[in-house]
Amino acid sequence: MSPVSDQQPRRLLLVHAHPDDESIVTGATMARYAAEGARVTLVTCTLGEGGEVIPAELAHLTADRDDTLGEHRIGELAAAMRELGVEDFRFLGGPGRYRDSGMMGVAENDAPGCFWRAGVDEAAGHLVAVVREVRPQVLVTYDEQGGYGHPDHIQAHRVALRAYELAADPAYRPELGAAWRIAKVYYARMPRSVIERGLREAAEKAAFPGVARVSDVPGVVPDETVTTVLDGTAYAGAKAAAMRAHVTQITVDGEFFALSNDLGQPLLATEYFELVRGGLGPDRPETDLFAGVEG
Ligand SMILES: [Zn+2]
Repeated sequence: MSPVSDQQPRRLLLVHAHPDDESIVTGATMARYAAEGARVTLVTCTLGEGGEVIPAELAHLTADRDDTLGEHRIGELAAAMRELGVEDFRFLGGPGRYRDSGMMGVAENDAPGCFWRAGVDEAAGHLVAVVREVRPQVLVTYDEQGGYGHPDHIQAHRVALRAYELAADPAYRPELGAAWRIAKVYYARMPRSVIERGLREAAEKAAFPGVARVSDVPGVVPDETVTTVLDGTAYAGAKAAAMRAHVTQITVDGEFFALSNDLGQPLLATEYFELVRGGLGPDRPETDLFAGVEG
């Protein structure tokens, strides 16, 4: 086993649902820790095969036409990771192991092979292997609602939390490596006052035909729920470039962006988290995901 822990004392694992979530939700955080020498490992659970496509010349990629969007998005994710300086990115169980389940309530939720229908323990086993290899001190994922109710985001939460438990259990599949207890687990969050202000600014300044609603934005919580504020100002450019690399999914316009619905949202370089396992560092709010973790 490679001695990852000897070379890179700080190790951050992020579990996201689709290619593009990592850049939108945690792009500045990933760029900052990568630049600071931490090992940043991204596990993406699906290829995002069910997504819509923004550029007309790529419209043929969608599931109802060529159904090659998943493959295409592997390339977009790789390009985004170059912008963020992240070398270690993987798909849960390998590329295409779990298919995008679509938005809640659509027929794709019941398709064999989709992530929503995967057994949580079976899927978590793939993640335990990554946890025991990389031995991260910090795990970032979504809350039990997946931030906003998308089945793949809910399932990413379940699988990540299950893997957190199983990876620490020495009796669970010792062939996957030595047991590892992740010190801190965070949910990605968005303070309500921050997104409300950002959406007001988008309504005034952004060039998109409309503006998203608060309910379109994942992870919105009362401000006081946020425990940790990550200043990624120095990495705003890297985050915007990573989002632009997801050509089929995101349009970036200055300090704003839109998904395929063409509704403007603020592109925020400060990212927010809620600690849900482990102990907080000394600062309130915390300004470092590794605060209090032995190096
Ligand atoms: Zn997603």
